[in-house]
Order: sequence, then structure tokens, then C-alpha cells
Amino acid sequence: MRMRKKLAAWLCLITVMAASIVGPLKADAAGSYENQEVYSFVQRMYEKVLGRGGDPEGIDGWYQQLVSGQNTGAQIVYGFVFSEEFIKKSYGDADFVHILYRALFDREADATGFAAWTGKLSGGESRLSVCKGFVDSQEFSNLCSRFGIIKGTIEIPGQEQPTQPESLITQFVKRLYVKALGRDADEAGLQSWSRCLESGEATGREVVRGFVFSKECKDKKLSNADFVEMLYQALFDRSADAEGAKSWSKALSKGMTREEICDGFIFSPEFAALCSKYGIEVGKKSSIDPNKPMVALTFDDGPGVYTSRLLDCLENNNAKATFFVVGTNAANYQSVMKRAFDLGCEIGNHTYNHPTLTRLSVADIQSQINRTNQYIKKATGSNATVMRPPGGAWNNTVKSAVGLPVILWSIDTRDWETRNAQSTINSVLKNVKDGDIVLMHDIHKQSVDAAEVIIPELVKRGYQLVTVSELAQYRGSGLSSGSVYYSFR
Ligand code: ZN
Repeated sequence: MRMRKKLAAWLCLITVMAASIVGPLKADAAGSYENQEVYSFVQRMYEKVLGRGGDPEGIDGWYQQLVSGQNTGAQIVYGFVFSEEFIKKSYGDADFVHILYRALFDREADATGFAAWTGKLSGGESRLSVCKGFVDSQEFSNLCSRFGIIKGTIEIPGQEQPTQPESLITQFVKRLYVKALGRDADEAGLQSWSRCLESGEATGREVVRGFVFSKECKDKKLSNADFVEMLYQALFDRSADAEGAKSWSKALSKGMTREEICDGFIFSPEFAALCSKYGIEVGKKSSIDPNKPMVALTFDDGPGVYTSRLLDCLENNNAKATFFVVGTNAANYQSVMKRAFDLGCEIGNHTYNHPTLTRLSVADIQSQINRTNQYIKKATGSNATVMRPPGGAWNNTVKSAVGLPVILWSIDTRDWETRNAQSTINSVLKNVKDGDIVLMHDIHKQSVDAAEVIIPELVKRGYQLVTVSELAQYRGSGLSSGSVYYSFR
């Protein structure tokens, strides 16, 4: 049994380590560790699991295990959670779960998750198995990648369990393949849709639309009646009743579009019930009218001290904007970013500290993106959906390294240069057209002053102020990673 042998090997090692967990609390020389991320990972395990700082010998031991690749993040977790020191604390199930949330997910437990985990424990599942559940989750994987650590897993002796039970999200996606496309899921598609749902990048509505309006589905050339029946099966999990089928078919023949019909199904109590069964958010109904002009205002380099004022103005005008944030500010303005996101604004990535990306290596470019994404995700629960390179400087390396759609602009207000509200106002209001992307910077007072004039005026002229992704959806054909966009005129 390869697995048993491996387990025995690191159990043995953990016993050695456990000896060093106990010991006087000395100030450790943090600066002497070459890999600061790994050092912090170990230190935070001490704090979050054992509730104390690490002793130098202990830290040193775990640190070496991780940097040498002898042990993974999962095995370190195991070492702490099942150490003598921890076991002696005799925590109850609730505290045990709280500690796993803080240590492995870096957040407090949500009510649903907490109930599920404590339910497993009270139902007789072992702490080892629950700990494994946390370790094998996407959130712990994110934490490990944040600290540059190999995640690994915990193996439970005597129990062959190569696969995780299928998550509800996976089941939801699989059934859409069958019901909307009439075939089994392919692995790549299944993974990518599941990931989008899991990370909150896509809602139930977006995934359903992704299937129903996919090329594959369109190629089936379904009749109106078959299209309606497909929606009944995919969204309501049943056949059409005679009355329903008749009224939808009538609506289609009277000129209602398939998009509108699909939304009719999506925003119904029956689909809401299906989504809640699978733990999925339905998503919001779009209030965008494709027949009216629209423009995407974008603000770079923030958030900053004036961003809240700008958000007030957007909120009062029922307008959205896209914020290309830099990581250093994203770290300091978490609640502002969350508010922007909650208002329906889009959060884009503008690198960590604003370097010219064309001068950086692929690894450095990715580090700039990833570090900032962490702060965006921490505040909003979602990753950035778009990115803008500082100074608009991009080349093929940048394009392929960032892993996001690259968004430039069609109206450059030069607001950072003029620092003159009137000049910024003029450059927008004299030039704006349907489909434009406008570049401004919310770290300057004059720019926010200008925005407070521009936003209500555009609304008055009948413009819908939308995010970049919305503009791309309504005026183009969406966005794809590694492509560069200037406008959707
Ligand atoms: Zn910038």
C-alpha cells in the first residue's frame, strides 16, 4: 500500500515536528528567511491553529519541510491540527470548524458552510475526514497559491478515496449538458463552467445563457416548440404543460426574442427553486436596453480618497463604471471596492504597483496580476474580470501572460495631466459616442469633480452607463482573455 507507507512516513516526521512545536516563545528572525511567503504561511498556521506565535525551532522545521518540497501545505495543516498541543485544547466541533475556516480559508465561516461541516461531525464523520474536506477545497488551494505553496492532500489510511464526491455545482453543469445540449459533458467544458460558478464569476443565468445560446445549441436549429421544450427540461426539470407551451410559443410568434423567453424562464420561481437545490445564485436581471446608446466609464489607479464620492454619484444616477485598481490601493480600500462591486460596477486589474509591463518577464507580469487579484477577491469574492496595462503599454507577451481581456480606451481625457475638471468634462461630452470606453483616474479630485458633471449629463442624453463587460456583451460578442479592446463603437 503505497498510500499507507507514505502516510506512515510523514506521521513519523510530524511526531518529530510536534516535539518542536512546544518550546519557549522567542522572537524569530523573520528577515532571515529567504522565502518570506513560506515563512508567513508557517507563522500564520501557528497563529490561526495554535493561537500563538511560532517558536524559532518549530518555524524553522516547518519552513524547511515546505521549501525543500518534502511536505505540502496539506501535510503541514495535518501536522498542526492533529498535533498534541492542539488536541490537548479539546475544542468542541464548532470551534474546530471555526479554526479550519480561519486557518485554511482565511475567513470566518458562512452560515451554510458552518452548518454543513458541523453536521458532518455530529453525524459521525471524523475530524480527519472533515479536515481533508477543507484541504481538498478550492479555497485552500487559493490560499496555498497565495503563499506559493504546493497544496497536496491528506490521505486517510485504510480508505481508498481517489475521487471527491461530486459537488452540487458539477451536478448542475452536467445536467445542463444533457438537458440543453443532449450529450454528456466533456471534461474541459465541465471544469471551466464549474469553476466559473464556484468562484462566483458566473451566475446561474449566465451559465444557462452560455448553453442555450452556444453555437452548439444554435446549430441544432430548434423549432420554437422544441426550443421551449428544451427550456422546460433544462430549467424546470420537467416537460412543458400544454398551457405553458402554448403561451410561450405564442409569445415567440408575436416577435418576442429567444433571449427574452429564456430570461422569462430564468426569472421564474421554478428555476429559482432548481438553483437553490444546487446552491447556485440565479443572478440579476439585466436592465440594459440594447436599443439605447451606452458607454463605459473607466477609472484607473484607485481606489482612493475620492472614490466614495464617485460611487455616491454613480449610485444616485443608477450608473455603473469599471475600476481598474492597483493592488497597493486595493489593499487599503477594501470596503470601497466591495461597495463598488455591490453597486454592479466592474473591478479590473491594473497591476500591483503600476510598472510598465512590457519591460517585465512573464513571471513578474503574472505576479503583478495575481497579487492584485488576491485583494480584489478578498474584498468582492470574485476575481478581476478584465485588466488594463499601466500606460496602456502592451505587447504579445503581456497579452498572453495576463490571462484576462486587455482593455484600453477610445476616449483619453488626459485628466491626470490637465488636472482640470472642465477640460475633462469637455473631452468626454464633446466626443462621446455609443460604444465608447472613457479613460479617467479616480485618484484625482478634479477627475471626480468632472465625473459628477459627466455622469448625470450622459444619463440626461439617454446614455446607459455600463461596465466594460456589459458593453462588450451588448455591442460586441463578449470578451476573451488575451484579446485587446479599445471600444465597441
Ligand atoms: Zn494607471
